[in-house]
Amino acid sequence: MGVPTLGCGCAVCTSDDPHDRRLRPSLLLRWQAGGRERVVVVDTGPDFREQALRNGLTRVDAVFYTHGHADHILGLDDLRPLSFTVFREGELIPLYASEQTAEVLKRMYDYTFSPDATYPNRARLRIEPLGERTTVHGVEFLRVPVLHGEQEISGFRFGRTAYLTDVSAIPEASFALLEGLDCVILSALRHKPHPNHATVDQAVEWARRIGARQTWFTHIAHDLGHKATNRTLPEGVALAYDGLAFPVSL
Ligand SMILES: [Zn+2]
Ligand SMILES: [Zn+2]
Ligand SMILES: [Zn+2]
Repeated sequence: MGVPTLGCGCAVCTSDDPHDRRLRPSLLLRWQAGGRERVVVVDTGPDFREQALRNGLTRVDAVFYTHGHADHILGLDDLRPLSFTVFREGELIPLYASEQTAEVLKRMYDYTFSPDATYPNRARLRIEPLGERTTVHGVEFLRVPVLHGEQEISGFRFGRTAYLTDVSAIPEASFALLEGLDCVILSALRHKPHPNHATVDQAVEWARRIGARQTWFTHIAHDLGHKATNRTLPEGVALAYDGLAFPVSL
């Protein structure tokens, strides 16, 4: 929902701590390849435009989608101006999405993706099937299947970092894809159980099992105050926050 959550006057929603202001979750990965900066975004939620502005984004080379829920896809249209930059270089921005997510994107943005669309200046995007491994300008993205309630959705591993959001369960086979991580970004919604999301305790248990040097929690609801929750987390596990940035090995 983002924090503050609309209509809520709770302690976290009215907190003065900037760490308690949370846009919808997204991940930005930047690296140098072919003499220029390359940029991959995971999910374009409703706050994508604001996040792109805060991070000075001038291009996007590819987008990976975890799944088709509103908080992960509603910023897609804001890729439009960035897609023109890439189009001038002769490319359409690839959007890597599972079949299920691709269906949602095509339905919601039919004026962009329908072959019959007559919308002028449509975003220059192409939906590509999400395979087990996808390479973007030399960086390999490994799909890590996770469960989100009844639905199987996608997490991603790149180098020794993984991003797994909206997780309610991690299949055994996916733990094998998460060996040897420096860093894992995992969703931890709140303490109260939710059918589609892990609680903090569940996420801490997975963090221990995965054993990355650092675990960051994301997709955090207004139930969790930043400072108070961090005091209760084990070493090497902490709540992420908007604008958090760190180097990764690819
Ligand atoms: Zn609140
Ligand atoms: Zn979701
Ligand atoms: Zn979500």
